[in-house]
Amino acid sequence: MEFKLSEEQLEIKRAVREFCEKEFDSELALELDRKEEFPMELYKKAAKLGFTSLAFPEEYGGQGYGYLETCIAMEEMCRVDSSLGLAVMIGVFGSDLILFHGTEEQKEKYLPPLCRGDYISAAAFTEPGRGSDITKMDTTAVKYGDEWWINGTKTFITNAPIADFIIVLCQTDTKVRPTYRGQTLFVIDKGTPGLDVTKQTNKMGIRCTATGEVSLSDVKVTDWNIVGELNRGFYHSMWFFDISRVAVAAQAVGTAQGAFEIAFKYAKEREAFGQPIMQFQQIGCRLAEVATEIEAARLLTYKAAWTIDQGKMDPMLTSMAKLYASKAAVKATDAAIQTLGGYGYMGEYKVERYYRDAKITEIYEGTSEIQRLTILRYLLRRF
Ligand SMILES: Cc1cc2nc3c(=O)[nH]c(=O)nc-3n(C[C@H](O)[C@H](O)[C@H](O)COP(=O)(O)OP(=O)(O)OC[C@H]3O[C@@H](n4cnc5c(N)ncnc54)[C@H](O)[C@@H]3O)c2cc1C
Repeated sequence: MEFKLSEEQLEIKRAVREFCEKEFDSELALELDRKEEFPMELYKKAAKLGFTSLAFPEEYGGQGYGYLETCIAMEEMCRVDSSLGLAVMIGVFGSDLILFHGTEEQKEKYLPPLCRGDYISAAAFTEPGRGSDITKMDTTAVKYGDEWWINGTKTFITNAPIADFIIVLCQTDTKVRPTYRGQTLFVIDKGTPGLDVTKQTNKMGIRCTATGEVSLSDVKVTDWNIVGELNRGFYHSMWFFDISRVAVAAQAVGTAQGAFEIAFKYAKEREAFGQPIMQFQQIGCRLAEVATEIEAARLLTYKAAWTIDQGKMDPMLTSMAKLYASKAAVKATDAAIQTLGGYGYMGEYKVERYYRDAKITEIYEGTSEIQRLTILRYLLRRF
């Protein structure tokens, strides 16, 4: 059977492409990349058109589609601009946790403004001493009467400096073994006393996203703020990573495709030794290989997203998609710089930014090493 996107999905792709080509400006991207600034205006415009809430139900102001449509939008955004596109799409990061595990009151409070683009969300798992291994958290939530007192530090948190609410993974039971059976997610509003965010700067790439360190010092919340079940936070987080990993894979596919297109066009036009450089096998064949890997990464990503939409989430598949697509993105963006030679190294030709933006896809939402471990664990169970 031929794999085909539906007319509706193709229409989403076209609409996103049209929006990006009209609104994204390479000069602006370079400037925000230099200043490390979030494109707030673009985020709000994209949200108003529904591009950031494709997978949210219409009753909360979303578009009622699924993760495949979200991946299509993410891919197209990052294809047109790897920095601006990602920043726009990542504004709602972590809010799937509220959608799938939150209470009705939490959904009503957070999701409509998020879908409208009035809110930005963040999700905080990583701590200074714990990134890949979150089976035990140093951030604790201890109950005194009706209140939970939260203390700890989270680091590298996307959107934290601009977020209206942050979902934080805490250790609520420090005695239980294994330790991950004692973790809980809490949603904390911006401005809650004891919650402080420091912007982290000098990132290699994705510099249009805002990253921050979150300090929690006697932050007081109640049971109302618990997202999902008490002491099930680790499981909810693992579930969330399976969704977010597919979005990272789509980011990687889009970034790779964008860099590839720039390189391909350049190779047809640039001449050396009296002919277009595309005619040199080392250039042309490398681009053919890159195109093949991008296509394979895209199909793996779409399959993983489609599987989630069918309610048959497959952690092995999501890890495979992220592992493969992120590797393809790093290779494609590297090849793009090489194809452009010295020009590729300069900011105005975009591909050096795509290269810097691509690298994070091998690190966040679980490093490539962690994806391989997940794949292996499932392979051993199945075969
Ligand atoms: C720009 C950016 C944005 C981020 N956004 C967020 C966010 O929004 N929320 C959030 O919670 N976190 C976020 N992160 C954190 C990110 O998810 C972590 O950096 C990542 O999971 C790796 O953790 P670590 O940095 O502590 O590295 P470590 O866990 O210390 O790993 C270091 C190295 O050891 C390897 N390693 C670790 N364990 C194993 C193992 N068992 N086998 C083989 N190799 C292993 C790793 O793969 C890596 O190569 C972000 C990070 C960055 C840089």
